[in-house]
Amino acid sequence: MARSKYITHFCAYCHKETKMEAVGGKAVEANGTESLRVWFRCQRCKHSALIDRSVPASKSAVADLTRESATEYAATKVFTIGEAIYHSEWDDLGRVIAKNRTSGGVQAITVSFQKLGERKLVENLRADALSDAAQV
Ligand SMILES: [Zn+2]
Repeated sequence: MARSKYITHFCAYCHKETKMEAVGGKAVEANGTESLRVWFRCQRCKHSALIDRSVPASKSAVADLTRESATEYAATKVFTIGEAIYHSEWDDLGRVIAKNRTSGGVQAITVSFQKLGERKLVENLRADALSDAAQV
């Protein structure tokens, strides 16, 4: 399957969705799960981000999620791909489908929500950085 050289992705430096160009990467196969981590460079600010494009199909289903089995989202927590989360502010359940790390060390997760669809959220945020918007 051909992958586009360009993607639209949230840039932690621009604090907005920007056009990013693939500048390198590698496909890794471990435990039967395809992992594709690719460096993308923001066309606006030229910062690079290592983006994990792997989405385990068996872990992407969100229809059967329940609030009891989901972890409540907080920007200071750390999540894993496939983990079910509950966003109390949005009252929505979702599943982590990707994890991203920018060259600046900001960690983010891409979550597929039942009602809102795909949203990006920060994770592993230091408490003293909470003044920045929790939603990316
Ligand atoms: Zn940028």
